[in-house]
Amino acid sequence: MSQDFDDPAIRDPKPESPIVPVKLGLDDTFQFHCHRGVACFNACCKNVDILLTPYDCLRLKKRLGLSSREFIARHTVMFEMDAHGMPGLKMKTKEGTAECQFLTPEGCGVYEDRPAACRYYALGATTMRPKDSPHIEEFYFVVKEPHCLGHHEPKIQTIRDYRREQGIEIYDEMNRGWREVVLKKRSSGPSIGRPSDRSFDLFFVASYDLDGFRAFVASAGFQEVYDLPQDEMETLLYDDHALLQFAARFMKQAFFGEKTIPVKPDALERRLQRKRERLAKQRRGQAQTDITGQTGGE
Ligand code: SF4
Ligand code: SF4
Repeated sequence: MSQDFDDPAIRDPKPESPIVPVKLGLDDTFQFHCHRGVACFNACCKNVDILLTPYDCLRLKKRLGLSSREFIARHTVMFEMDAHGMPGLKMKTKEGTAECQFLTPEGCGVYEDRPAACRYYALGATTMRPKDSPHIEEFYFVVKEPHCLGHHEPKIQTIRDYRREQGIEIYDEMNRGWREVVLKKRSSGPSIGRPSDRSFDLFFVASYDLDGFRAFVASAGFQEVYDLPQDEMETLLYDDHALLQFAARFMKQAFFGEKTIPVKPDALERRLQRKRERLAKQRRGQAQTDITGQTGGE
């Protein structure tokens, strides 16, 4: 089982691909039903390659009672989402297998908080951003893998109803801003160059380490630069959903220079001034060390 929200394999399937090359909209129908009675029950969870979104990480870490960093360390593996090395996370599988770590003999062990990819299956979703538009458009495809017998079940539903039944809507809403950042970064190609390591570090924290991002927002350095109303700031410190959506705004500002968050007047100049002073102090310290070294050598 795999589903990538803008996987080229979904956009441009090969002839042997399980993707049915018919673009579907929300009111189109498809035939499929997965339930405990199918002979293949859980077969799809034994061969997984699941990309995790920020909201997947939030739901799962809360479910498991872990901090963001504990969740990342125990349950994910990092991968590079593009040629620049943009960091992504995939779900870890059971040692030496492709089987999902959360699969139990009774079925999914985290069912109520399973990732968006599991909810979508046997659909694929792909997104496109039309040229000159800030908004992304979504399309859907049926993914027909030979082992999946759900396609033979006599249930026909619209994509809209399936999404609702699977609880996908909240996942898409919470991940929308993040997806826009990833898509914009990918579609801008090599023209913007490789973002700095610091930008990628910020992207990683803002995407997957929500506890770390909250600590960053609460820090004196952040509050010195960004001009958020007091009530918004307080909300970010306790509301995970608000913080997740704010993180996407922050990434748009950090990556693309979009003016999504107000900055305090002179804040950047003051920060630069402090950086200059720090560097000058370091240089003075280095010069002092050099002189001492020379003196000691005489
Ligand atoms: S019907 Fe398909 S989705 Fe459902 S358990 Fe079987 S393989 Fe998995
Ligand atoms: S999280 Fe649950 S539904 Fe998703 S692959 Fe794992 S066991 Fe299957």
